[in-house]
Amino acid sequence: MSHHRPTFAAIQCAFLTAIVTISGIECHSEHHHYIEHLRHLQSTDRCETTDPGKAGEDAIITAVAAFRNTPKAQRTSLPIVVPVCFHTLYATGGAPLTDEKLQMTLDHLNQAFTASSCCDTAQAWCTSAIVDSLCSTETQITFEMAELVGGVVTGDTTVGTQVTAPNVCVIRTENDDWFTHTKSIDEAPMKEALHLGDRRVLNAYFVDFPNGSLGYATFPFNENGKLDGVVVGFDTLPGDGGRFGEGDTLVHEVGHWLGLPHTFAGGCFASDGVLDTAKTRDPYRGCTPQLTRPDSCPTSTGADPIFNFMDYSDDICMYEFTAGQKETMLAMWEFYRLGDGGIAANEIIQLQLDVPSNPIDLFPRQKQLYMLRTNTCEVTCNLSGDKEGDVDLFMEYDQAPQFDDSDSCVSESGGNTESCRLKSSGVSMVPVACRNRSRRQCNDRTVDAIYVGIQGYGISTAQNLVVTCFRNS
Ligand SMILES: [Zn+2]
Repeated sequence: MSHHRPTFAAIQCAFLTAIVTISGIECHSEHHHYIEHLRHLQSTDRCETTDPGKAGEDAIITAVAAFRNTPKAQRTSLPIVVPVCFHTLYATGGAPLTDEKLQMTLDHLNQAFTASSCCDTAQAWCTSAIVDSLCSTETQITFEMAELVGGVVTGDTTVGTQVTAPNVCVIRTENDDWFTHTKSIDEAPMKEALHLGDRRVLNAYFVDFPNGSLGYATFPFNENGKLDGVVVGFDTLPGDGGRFGEGDTLVHEVGHWLGLPHTFAGGCFASDGVLDTAKTRDPYRGCTPQLTRPDSCPTSTGADPIFNFMDYSDDICMYEFTAGQKETMLAMWEFYRLGDGGIAANEIIQLQLDVPSNPIDLFPRQKQLYMLRTNTCEVTCNLSGDKEGDVDLFMEYDQAPQFDDSDSCVSESGGNTESCRLKSSGVSMVPVACRNRSRRQCNDRTVDAIYVGIQGYGISTAQNLVVTCFRNS
């Protein structure tokens, strides 16, 4: 059996393709094209994170819609506190980042997620005539250093916002290969060796990118295991100067880690999954908005969100998350990273309808969707007040119901009360390795959440419709 040996140029091309997928640049195998594109990459593209595509963006829209309907008592209290581990890599003869630099980095990250992240008043474009908002959204997302004891991070305990606190999770690692970093080569071995904690813990690695990349990240809705985390250039931090030297690369990558695609994901015709970021065809590069902002999708509402942390602008331009991005990040945290909590024993949760319940105003085929965090595979939801059988109840593990017989649980129409008992066969209650302890395997699937949906049929005559859910075990 012979093996096809790829040419050196083809290997370069494969490597390059992995980098430039998001920028839409076609890869050519000729050597001079490779050099040309590499230079292009160095001068313009700040991130190697590939957007999740339409399926991922649909998942974001669904999760946020369900999050809105989730009873507040089911949600974690705000502000959320994200435990952080800093990994500072360095080469032989070099040195890790100083405590002062790490402190400035954490402080900048925290500030970027508050409403005190504002445009630079020294810039001519920092006026309400050009920007949508002079300052960012108060996201209620905060970052504290995780506690490291005996080489273990549980994610349950933080030591505050000082990087010099006792037991702080700051890891200094001398490794020439990992420091001089190529994603396709160094990501897996570095993270397999160094990653700490569960899905709640933000592992941030500081490395040197010889290809000119600034960083990359993982999304919360993917199975990342130890590969979870963000990797950013060690020279992109506050005080480093230049176009990308204010620390916004870390903010951008943490945005991905909390579930945000690029603002230009989906171009003019699809979406980044976030409702209030204007559609954008291309990444914005540089920072010269002058008197007008670019509008690469003129037929859709709003100029390009070039001041958003999730674009490719220079750091001086970046200062903003939108309210929709905040909601997305909180929903992603709740269902994919926190994953804890769920329904207490003997607790009965009443789901809130966002249509009048008396008389029920569910138009034919209109749907309501809810999401429950899981600490069990077995949940029952009851629907009462549906005398004529005009409304059906559906439940599904980890995704929105299809609203048909393919769902794991479909209620029977008719009667004053109908019931759905979601019950998996062959339940394994063993948490999956490297996952939050509450994540369950149900029907041989790992499950973060249970979705509950109701759908109206015909002209509904239901009165005082109420949906309640409780756990069976
Ligand atoms: Zn990015």
